[in-house]
Amino acid sequence: MSESRQQAARKCVSCGIKVSGKNAAEFACPDCGTTIYRCATCRKQSNLYECPDCGFRGP
Ligand SMILES: [Zn+2]
Ligand SMILES: [Zn+2]
Repeated sequence: MSESRQQAARKCVSCGIKVSGKNAAEFACPDCGTTIYRCATCRKQSNLYECPDCGFRGP
């Protein structure tokens, strides 16, 4: 149980599944700069994302 917090799970902000490096789109929230991850599926479907930090929504 000594999982480091630095490599905490990256979760798709749209569907909440864990994403791993290759499949994830990673970008900064345009509003607050928080790093946001999205899985390939949600990217394909152009699901909306919502920033977990400030609530910003975008395509
Ligand atoms: Zn997703
Ligand atoms: Zn934000």
